[in-house]
Amino acid sequence: MIDIDRDIVIVGGGPAGMMAGLLFARAGLKVAVLEKHADFLRDFRGDTVHPSTLELFHQLGMLDDLLQLPHSKLEQASIHIAGRQMKAVDFRYLPVAAPYVAMMPQWDLLNFIATKAKHYPGFDLRMKTEAVDLLYGKAERVCGVETRDGQKLVAKLVIAADGRRSVLRGKAKLPLRNIGAPMDVFWFRVDKPKGKGGDVFGAVQAGRFMVLIDRQDYYQCAYVFNKGQAGEVKAAGLEAFRAGLRSLVPDLGAAFDQITSWDQVKILEVALDRLERWHRPGLLAIGDAAHAMSPIGGVGINMAVQDAVTAANILAGPMAAGENPDSLLRQVYARRIKPVRRMQAVQKLAQDRVIAPLLRRTKPIEKPLLPLRILNRVPLLRRIPGRVIGLGFGRETIQSPEAPIIPE
Ligand SMILES: Cc1cc2nc3c(=O)[nH]c(=O)nc-3n(C[C@H](O)[C@H](O)[C@H](O)COP(=O)(O)OP(=O)(O)OC[C@H]3O[C@@H](n4cnc5c(N)ncnc54)[C@H](O)[C@@H]3O)c2cc1C
Repeated sequence: MIDIDRDIVIVGGGPAGMMAGLLFARAGLKVAVLEKHADFLRDFRGDTVHPSTLELFHQLGMLDDLLQLPHSKLEQASIHIAGRQMKAVDFRYLPVAAPYVAMMPQWDLLNFIATKAKHYPGFDLRMKTEAVDLLYGKAERVCGVETRDGQKLVAKLVIAADGRRSVLRGKAKLPLRNIGAPMDVFWFRVDKPKGKGGDVFGAVQAGRFMVLIDRQDYYQCAYVFNKGQAGEVKAAGLEAFRAGLRSLVPDLGAAFDQITSWDQVKILEVALDRLERWHRPGLLAIGDAAHAMSPIGGVGINMAVQDAVTAANILAGPMAAGENPDSLLRQVYARRIKPVRRMQAVQKLAQDRVIAPLLRRTKPIEKPLLPLRILNRVPLLRRIPGRVIGLGFGRETIQSPEAPIIPE
């Protein structure tokens, strides 16, 4: 079956694809977003909505509605190290409408964007629809996608927003540069003991490191270990794993007894990479498909959303006026590559100078590292990581047009 009635087919209903779908449909274009899963309800996802993303919703007039959803506000973040709690990051002074990270399950954010996007007549979200290949027209120009159930969707532009294991970027032969990461992460949850709170905090010891994210009833835990050593950690046994967690966060002690099977523990293989070209005629890659971010700073969602905004700012107006987007695709890359390179450079520095030495270390940490002691002592300095994490580099504003909504 050939379906030709589209301006844009977006593959992937993550933050990049959904935001792009919303903005292009808002500009009056006909957009199909294909998502291979039946719903957004997956646990294995990040759930930080950073100040710069909140600011975009503010510009769209949607922030108040978004903040009606259950969330907690992270205004500052701290690290537990050598028995001390060190304040490290402060978002409260950022020049935006919501100067904090909203901790919100990603599925709530995605459902929210879908609900808003459905107000625009051109928006068509197709769940349980997996793209398996690209379609090509004259001169090898990409002109659509083929789905697993045999549909052929033709469009003026295909946006690959299919995440860090993107099938489409491989099919399009876009060159990938692997930067590498020294760690992997175990991702699991434990119910919060009564009376506990604390938003997000990191707990650090020689050879191990964990981040705990307060998700109302439970902590989402990210346990960081040397890359490729998941097998060794597992081979040492569950009790050794639990004992390690207890010694990292003694306060939560017995809560870790809830982990009774490795099935409760998922592995995130950390990747840091980027495409050296994000486009070819008829196709543009954005979000993790264009650049997988390290979990440091939790900036992946933010970067993905910024890519979508840039793509819409540059392409939506001309496409709505009937222009072929091919000559503009490079501009999207040119605008986003600097912020991506810079953020990945910061992440690589943190990986090489902090995470890797920490994971290699065998001697106990007697006192917090000097930069942490300085940050803890000088509140003004905590605004710098707040700015880098909260706003990123090369922050976008919404410039794409809004077409009038025709009442039914
Ligand atoms: C465990 C974990 C924790 C994380 N924590 C954080 C955090 O706290 N903060 C943060 O900012 N970032 C975090 N991240 C990273 C963040 O989730 C990603 O950077 C972000 O989701 C990227 O958005 P995206 O839209 O580019 O890709 P994705 O979110 O990966 O979305 C891609 C979508 O495409 C769909 N898809 C894939 N292939 C196809 C296909 N062929 N056809 C149709 N659909 C397809 C997938 O099902 C998926 O829904 C975390 C990631 C993981 C895995």
